[in-house]
Amino acid sequence: MKILVINSGSSSLKFQVIDTDTEEVLAKGQCERIGIDGVFNYQTGGGIKIKETCPMKDHKEAVDRILRTLVDKEQGVIGDYAEIDVVGHRLVHGGEKFTGSVVITDEVLDVMRQCNDLAPLHNPANIIGVKACQELMPDTLMVGVFDTAFNQTMEPKAFLYGLPYRFYEKHKIRRYGFHGISHKYVSRRAAEFMGQRPDRVKTIVCHLGNGASICAVKYGRVIDNSMGFTPLEGLVMGTRCGDVDAGALEYLSKKENLDFPQIMNILNQESGVLGISKNLSSDFRELKDAEIKYNDTAALAREIFAYRVAKYIGSYAAAMNGVDNIVFTAGVGENDSDIREEICSYLEFLGITIDEVKNREQGEAVRISDGTSRVNVLVIKTNEELEIAREAAELVRGLKKEE
Ligand code: ADP
Repeated sequence: MKILVINSGSSSLKFQVIDTDTEEVLAKGQCERIGIDGVFNYQTGGGIKIKETCPMKDHKEAVDRILRTLVDKEQGVIGDYAEIDVVGHRLVHGGEKFTGSVVITDEVLDVMRQCNDLAPLHNPANIIGVKACQELMPDTLMVGVFDTAFNQTMEPKAFLYGLPYRFYEKHKIRRYGFHGISHKYVSRRAAEFMGQRPDRVKTIVCHLGNGASICAVKYGRVIDNSMGFTPLEGLVMGTRCGDVDAGALEYLSKKENLDFPQIMNILNQESGVLGISKNLSSDFRELKDAEIKYNDTAALAREIFAYRVAKYIGSYAAAMNGVDNIVFTAGVGENDSDIREEICSYLEFLGITIDEVKNREQGEAVRISDGTSRVNVLVIKTNEELEIAREAAELVRGLKKEE
């Protein structure tokens, strides 16, 4: 099956065409600065590359540009639109309604709109991407794969906050957890790589990118996720603060005369390793360069980040009463061997020992723990697009069987 995977943001739209029979990426790219000046990036498995400015007034024009390129005689990878069996959309927030992937219907879009308040930056942009595809490919099936769905197996003891229960009943205030598509892909790939059955292992996935979250996956089901009602909770991230005492925020608002939107902006955009490093950078590579030059706050930012990750791993090992695999993924997790080493230095009590040479290797999947380690520590490249394509194909195969 050929699946067009779409990840639509407010001013950008990423895409990939994946043949799920071979899992080959036929083409991929992104439209950026939609509604501004427009930049189109495209490359094919055969080596064709395009990068050009291309005005796109809205998402429909962006999708149109993608489709025209995909069927182009010289640059394209398919003969016509009908060769695309399904469009798989990454959708961020499905609330409690969606526990798996769905065929996108008008009812699904209505439910998603009801979740807009839960993810005001993401859901409306996702819906715009779906609508654009529906208009240009009215006969093609659209499937939605939610970032929150995999986390829906959490039990109330994990997803409820210590707030009055009525706020859960009335407003659905609870932990949802995010990065579900990545956590699902990576936890399964880890089991496959180690020759284990996913329903027999306890895995902690550390998705450490600009946004970062940790997920405890026991026997194939999520039991906890460090992100909460919004992606703000949990780890110290690139620019997000992670866990913080709400009492400190009230104090801060009084001392600095700040209202809620201002505080939220600080917590989301000005905090994390960026804020701790006195605005030096949210990028771990730049922080490392600064640390080497004895920049104290850059070193402190990385230290705080690693410490928080280690604390979550410890707590999730307790939550699952053990752990078989710990997996690092995403930009920082896949590339920053020093951070991985520092995190693992807290975990000797779990019987973890790291092979320093392996830890510096690059690859799609690498086991960095040594032969004596009681827990497997792995680095696995995440692949959310492939996970979306797989799920979309699986859903369609299921529908065909039913017919
Ligand atoms: P997101 O998808 O959340 O934007 P990514 O998973 O792409 O994030 O991660 C981006 C982050 O990964 C960058 O901000 C940078 O800090 C980090 N990163 C990327 N490459 C490296 C590297 N070689 N060493 C350390 N950190 C890296």
